[in-house]
Amino acid sequence: MIVACANCSTLNRIPEHKPLAEARCGTCQHPVMATAPIDASAANFQRYLKSELPVVVDFWAGWCGPCKMMGPIFQQVAAELAGKVLFVKVNTETEPELANQFAIRSIPTLMVFRHGKAIAQQAGAMQAGQLRQWLGAVLQ
Ligand SMILES: [Zn+2]
Repeated sequence: MIVACANCSTLNRIPEHKPLAEARCGTCQHPVMATAPIDASAANFQRYLKSELPVVVDFWAGWCGPCKMMGPIFQQVAAELAGKVLFVKVNTETEPELANQFAIRSIPTLMVFRHGKAIAQQAGAMQAGQLRQWLGAVLQ
């Protein structure tokens, strides 16, 4: 299983028999898996997409009210699904090139990637139950 480190974004190969929650990064020695969403930048975003886990990305901005409502919900569901799905946040104010690359027109927008390919996209804030249900449907 190849997973990008939550701390330094180095790609780590985790042996099948090893619990992901206990894996430490070969480069920075931090736990590879985070229970909180990872703040990604244009510099490391592609590395997170190379993880063999599905990746859900929250495109947000500080001025956006619905994004602020969505923040703790995204964090809560990230903790629930730690080790199964990578939760990544992209601040569209500091990373406008990523917002452009994925043609983000409204925020919050959530995108799900699997093996580097976008497989689902949804604009607008979601409740925790809706987010769980949506991810469950997209990733089944
Ligand atoms: Zn690391």
